[in-house]
Amino acid sequence: MTKLTSQTRKGLKSRTRLVNAGRDVSEQHGFINMPAWRGSTVVFPTVEALKGRKARYTYGTKGTPSSEALEQAWSEIAGAQTTVLAPTGLAAVTLALLTAVKSGDHILVSDSAYGPTRHFCDTILKRLNVEAQYYDPYVGAEISGLMRSSTSAVLVEAPGSQSFEMQDIPAIAEVAHARGACVIMDNTWATPLFFPPHERGVDLAIEAGTKYLSGHSDLLIGLVSANPAWAKRLRETFDAFAMCAGPDDIFLALRGLRTMELRLREAERQGLGLANWFAARSEVKEVLHPALPGHRGHEIWKRDFLGSSGLFSIILNPASEKAVAAMLDGLELFGMGYSWGGFESLVIPFDCGTYRTATKWAPGGPALRFQVGLEDMSDLTADLVKGFARLQAGG
Ligand SMILES: *Cc1c(COP(=O)(O)O)cnc(C)c1O
Repeated sequence: MTKLTSQTRKGLKSRTRLVNAGRDVSEQHGFINMPAWRGSTVVFPTVEALKGRKARYTYGTKGTPSSEALEQAWSEIAGAQTTVLAPTGLAAVTLALLTAVKSGDHILVSDSAYGPTRHFCDTILKRLNVEAQYYDPYVGAEISGLMRSSTSAVLVEAPGSQSFEMQDIPAIAEVAHARGACVIMDNTWATPLFFPPHERGVDLAIEAGTKYLSGHSDLLIGLVSANPAWAKRLRETFDAFAMCAGPDDIFLALRGLRTMELRLREAERQGLGLANWFAARSEVKEVLHPALPGHRGHEIWKRDFLGSSGLFSIILNPASEKAVAAMLDGLELFGMGYSWGGFESLVIPFDCGTYRTATKWAPGGPALRFQVGLEDMSDLTADLVKGFARLQAGG
């Protein structure tokens, strides 16, 4: 086996890339996987080397073979110039935002953005004199009406991870770039496999690797990738914080990377299977899944996305809280918990109305979010049929 040339590497299809990215067996004594490199101090052979930091690795926070392997692999997959790792997905969000803003700036944030992202904007950014204004995710090119001379960033997230609004990201990016603003996207739902962020105009793309990169609900990690325009600034911000991911999490993330496309394609198949099953149930008022033709953002999804993942929501016909609790508490195969992207099915009730400010959340019934795992669909639907019976009985 000979070493992959960069020319060959460039032409590889995504599945081949996932298998080979960030991996060079000739540097690992022939072993397939890189061990978890852990360390703070790196020693130098001479005073001269020490003073000039003349070495490939200089200190634990500046990068290890493990962190570099994942960063390089992710850049390849995301079509990015560079990638930095963070200890969690939320830390990746904060790194991206702090890369783009300075005191006195105004930023635009989708009203459907991840809740803790809003919290960061409303507390820390506010304290730093950065004003976050929330906008309707369906704004499209009309975002131009919200741009100010001080607008330095537009944060998009599509679909919203509870309510599943889609966003016309190329249109938003065109407006933002004409006004000199950075486009930041939380791309956790689609991953770069189903939405190549930088090709679509995104400057800084965030991935909560905790979800599909991990795939096993046993690690926390975040990634931010940058296009050439933002690569230097992102790296500079990362270096200033030294907000590093841990070696074991990086090791597990690299392992997850190899099977990410397989898992994601199965999540898509399972997600569509369950979404269509719900769509045919009389207890369900609406299914919020962008790959279903009736969804408001379906045309955008079809145009810009290459697939869908296994997270979507449903709106039930009006029912009491007690009845919904009886339905959910008695489920045997769906755990109730935050996060998603693992091998197991999950459900949570949610209410976007508690934090929305730019749009009205009026679903007309209880809202449930489902993460579909790898279980057999007939077992999942049998569990849900019993759940619907408890719902109908009123708890
Ligand atoms: C989970 C999640 C995050 C945060 O990831 P953590 O690793 O849990 O901090 C960010 N954005 C979205 C859309 C998420 O679903």
